[in-house]
Amino acid sequence: MVKAVVGANWGDEGKGKITDMLAREADIVIRFQGGANAGHTIVNNYGKFALHTLPSGVFYNHTTSIIGNGVALDIPILMKEIQSITDRNVPMPKILVSDRVQIVMPYHKLLDQYEEERLGGKSFGSTKSGIAPFYSDKYAKIGFQVSELFDEVLLKEKVERVIEQKNIILEHLYHKPAIVPSELLDTLHSYRDMIKPFICDVSQYLYEAIEAGKNILLEGQLGTLKDPDHGIYPMVTSSSTLAAYGAIGAGLPPYEIKEIYTVCKAYSSAVGAGAFVSEIFGEEADELRRRGGDGGEYGATTGRPRRMGWFDCVASKYGCRMQGTTDVCFTVLDVLGYLDEIPVCTGYEIDGEITTQFPVTARLEKAKPVFETLPGWKTEIRGIKNYDELPQNCRNYVEFIEKQIGYPITLISNGPARDDIIYRKSSLKSK
Ligand code: GDP
Repeated sequence: MVKAVVGANWGDEGKGKITDMLAREADIVIRFQGGANAGHTIVNNYGKFALHTLPSGVFYNHTTSIIGNGVALDIPILMKEIQSITDRNVPMPKILVSDRVQIVMPYHKLLDQYEEERLGGKSFGSTKSGIAPFYSDKYAKIGFQVSELFDEVLLKEKVERVIEQKNIILEHLYHKPAIVPSELLDTLHSYRDMIKPFICDVSQYLYEAIEAGKNILLEGQLGTLKDPDHGIYPMVTSSSTLAAYGAIGAGLPPYEIKEIYTVCKAYSSAVGAGAFVSEIFGEEADELRRRGGDGGEYGATTGRPRRMGWFDCVASKYGCRMQGTTDVCFTVLDVLGYLDEIPVCTGYEIDGEITTQFPVTARLEKAKPVFETLPGWKTEIRGIKNYDELPQNCRNYVEFIEKQIGYPITLISNGPARDDIIYRKSSLKSK
């Protein structure tokens, strides 16, 4: 049985916590896209961790954690991350890395940084982890697959060929020092030695695991609105954030993905540039940011303050639809307990017309939020385990949003810890 955990919005919805929780029942957890540019925050009995590359199943000793072929693999960062958890007494997890995954090269990070510098105020707000240059090279067919590290003749020839092109860009576009091929080759040799113990033919491994009836969890990074095709292009990430891509980025048949858990936060936050219709500013935003998440809404990778907004039904309905949602996990609901009233964005006004359909970017830029205000519940809801014990206004908020988005909210997260979770029966779900 294959399940996916993905985001409905701009990322940071709390997927790490939901994955960590669902991983309890999983034999295998797989990252299928993205790189070390975003992070998951997980709170468990070992402490609080920010993971960037490792799947969120690494804290259980019954799970195998897999880095799928769709990931942008930064080998030194992976090694550091393994070290950082084992240093804090987490037992060494069982980790497998696809032999088809491609490597983030040192020059990808440099090119990312130089390009952001060149663009200045018009930059994409990249985390400078090399993700866009990495995926560009992958599809331009000049990326390095992990398997290629083990063919010395191929490697040497490819390094020389690729570096010729990179050096022209480095010298003439960015006016930066050129790459020395022999130095890069040495770096790649060290990468080869680091990654060797983890390499696996992952699609074959998964084929056998599915045959054996294992529970497999696909862990997405970011959310629908950051998808390069279906998101707010060009303010998107460079690999698909959709559950459908899990089949490709892990290497398993699409029809094996039976359950898609789409994580939706009870309010909105976003990092980086791009249209954000329900965004709020000033003191109202500062307060939500301060109280948000677990210790404030600041990027897990960069520490940057996140942009804040009220819940956006238009974006979330679309976000759930594009994921193929079977279950919505509604997270961070506890944070809203301080508000007398809670605005919810139920529509977009574009050129004088109101719509509930999420538009293409050019139209999105013109959209103004239409808010409806719901009464708050003004109490702490952490610790509550049964849906019926939530305050009436809190349940009204959940049910109002469920109706607006049209997908069943079956899990409600009311705190950062593994057990801060409420299971709910939804009339929108038959089983
Ligand atoms: P991800 O990238 O989707 O995994 O999201 P992040 O980990 O970046 O952001 C979610 C933040 O919210 C983390 O700090 C979590 O510990 C925290 N969190 C997750 N669920 C809840 C919740 O229900 N309540 C509260 N207060 N914090 C939560």
